[in-house]
Amino acid sequence: MAELFIGGEWVSALAGATREIRCPADGSLVATVDEADRSDTESAIDAARRAFEAGPWPRTPAAQRGDLLLKVAALIDRDKAAYARAESLDTGKRLVESEYDMADVISCFRYFGKLAAHESGRIVDAGNPDIASRIVYEPVGVCGLITPWNYPLLQAVWKVAPALAAGNTFVLKPSELTPSTAILLMRTLQEAHLPDGVANLVLGSGAEVGAPLAEHPDVDLVSFTGGLATGTKVAAAAAATVKKVALELGGKNPNIVFADADFETAVDYAITAAFLHSGQVCSAGARLIVQNELHDELVDEIVRRTGRIRLGGPFDSMAETGPLISAAHLEKIEHYVAAAMTEGATLRTGGWRPEDEHLKDGSYYLPTVLTDVKQGSYAVREEAFGPVLTVERFTDEDDAVRIANDTHYGLAGGVFTKDGDKAQRVAARLRHGTIWINDYHPYLPQAEWGGFKRSGVGRELGRAGLAEYQEAKHIYQNLRPQPQYWFSRPPQTSSPGRESTQ
Ligand code: NAD
Repeated sequence: MAELFIGGEWVSALAGATREIRCPADGSLVATVDEADRSDTESAIDAARRAFEAGPWPRTPAAQRGDLLLKVAALIDRDKAAYARAESLDTGKRLVESEYDMADVISCFRYFGKLAAHESGRIVDAGNPDIASRIVYEPVGVCGLITPWNYPLLQAVWKVAPALAAGNTFVLKPSELTPSTAILLMRTLQEAHLPDGVANLVLGSGAEVGAPLAEHPDVDLVSFTGGLATGTKVAAAAAATVKKVALELGGKNPNIVFADADFETAVDYAITAAFLHSGQVCSAGARLIVQNELHDELVDEIVRRTGRIRLGGPFDSMAETGPLISAAHLEKIEHYVAAAMTEGATLRTGGWRPEDEHLKDGSYYLPTVLTDVKQGSYAVREEAFGPVLTVERFTDEDDAVRIANDTHYGLAGGVFTKDGDKAQRVAARLRHGTIWINDYHPYLPQAEWGGFKRSGVGRELGRAGLAEYQEAKHIYQNLRPQPQYWFSRPPQTSSPGRESTQ
């Protein structure tokens, strides 16, 4: 016990509440952790505020902050096996996927560690030798960082690394379902000698921890990753104190396959795009949009291969994908599929819980393909965030773009074709933040990550990712100040600038 990290100390929740963390693969107990309430959250905000106002971190030279981030990357690299195991137990995802995630976590710390040192500011040419003008970058202040359960540590580190690089202090609130790797991260930051109060961890519900972070006047910035409905609440709460807000929200991502695409490649990526991590990926290619000429052949092959996907827990080496995060989420997916079928969708494979004996205690759902879905219908509009692929048809390039952009989300999308010019034309017209051409899902820490339309506000990676956590301050200095007398100009005398006594 004592898993809340506040002001450099490990403490228990004041009210003594706890929460059981269970592995979604088999329901086994992973841990019992502290469950904070509003008063714990306020203590953490207070600790972060004090560390920001009086502690050394915001005033530490940027290059030294970068060095600490590089040290954190090295420590996580040393401990990556323990991190990956903890991530898999909380989420139920295959160990190999957690191992990839830890490699991404390490790259992210390295990237922002190196970037920190290059952010010393810039000179602005005022066009006048008597004026010195420059931009300096300063930390925003206390950051409230709220994250989801699908990539628990990676989502946290996409916020923690730039926030630290820029010299902020923060309170991290991971999903209440997946706290374990956030606890490990605090231990690593402690071992790296991050000053007390810079990093704070509060475990608990959205109502008791997330909402106060969005509302509290002492939090300067709230960065949230999660669903559209929660993100809307966070933005509204943050507006009352004019916080800086970054939102990474859901997606309903189109994956367009032209008739001239390489068949095997398109089939293979369509399956990966939809079913990696059982579709619990914000950028999942959950909306397959196929050119008429190829539709039947492509769908038949996807259905055939999808029906053979092997499900299993984190340590099942034969498993190709894992469970859903919880029984409640499993029910949500069942309702989504039922609603799609009521609207007239055709179920081509899946659509039910598996009956295998070894999966009976987990929250599993068979990878599912739905065809004959209508544009604008619930199934095409709403994010399922599970292993469900819907298939639509298109006639030509214009039609593909029109269908793919017909969503209020705009996170990511794919285009498969052998025609390079066409791929670039379509990519340019898609209103989505990341477009993969003849590929799906890779991300680079040095590239931008963020959503168009209702998928987000702000950017998380690349140079812009650091800028989210900085205030740009313009410092303009007149090197030869003299009175200007723009108003009430005195009469000219022999000594200019002095009032006449006559
Ligand atoms: P969620 O919105 O239910 O919860 C996200 C976080 O917000 C959790 O920590 C939760 O406890 C907290 N929260 C809940 N109510 C809150 C409130 N009123 N105020 C503040 N915080 C509150 O999302 P989830 O189910 O954890 O994650 C799935 C969603 O996340 C999907 O929609 C997915 O697309 C999205 N996501 C987006 C990205 C991206 O980069 N755009 C990445 C991963 C996940």
